[in-house]
Amino acid sequence: MGDSVIEAFRAYLREHNLPVTPQRLAIAEVVLSPDRHRSADEIAQELRARGVAVGTATVYRTLEVLVRSGLVVERDFGEGFKRYESARDMPQHEHLLCTVCGRVVEFQDERLDRMSTLLAEMHGFARQSHRLVIYGVCPECQRGSGAR
Ligand SMILES: [Zn+2]
Ligand SMILES: [Zn+2]
Repeated sequence: MGDSVIEAFRAYLREHNLPVTPQRLAIAEVVLSPDRHRSADEIAQELRARGVAVGTATVYRTLEVLVRSGLVVERDFGEGFKRYESARDMPQHEHLLCTVCGRVVEFQDERLDRMSTLLAEMHGFARQSHRLVIYGVCPECQRGSGAR
C-alpha cells in the first residue's frame, strides 16, 4: 500500500522533470508512513535515525513538492510549525492534539459535518468545508506517563 504511494510520487517527480533521488524517496517514505502528523524536524530526526543523510533544506523542499503533488497534506495547529500527513485515507477528519506530548489523534464524526452544515445555513452560508482541532491532555499524559 505504502509502495504504491511512493510509486505515485516517483511518477509525479518524473512528470515534472524533478530529480528522483534516494533522499527524496526516503523523505516521502517517512511522511507517508502510518505514524503521521510529523513536523519537518521530526521527519529529519527519523531520517537520521534510519541513517539517511538529508539536509533540512532538502526536507523542506521535498515536503513542498509532496504537498503540491496532492499526496501529502499540510496541517497547521497553531504550534508555530507545520505537520504533514498522507492524503490518501480519511479525507475528512478532525484532530485532537495533546498539549503536553504533542500526540495527534484523528477522528471522524458525521454529527459534526451535519452540525457545521446547519450552522453555516443559519448564517446564510453555503458550506464548503470546516476544520476542527481539539486541544487537551491525552490519557497517557493524564496518567503522568506521557513521553515524547
Ligand atoms: Zn500527551
Ligand atoms: Zn490527520
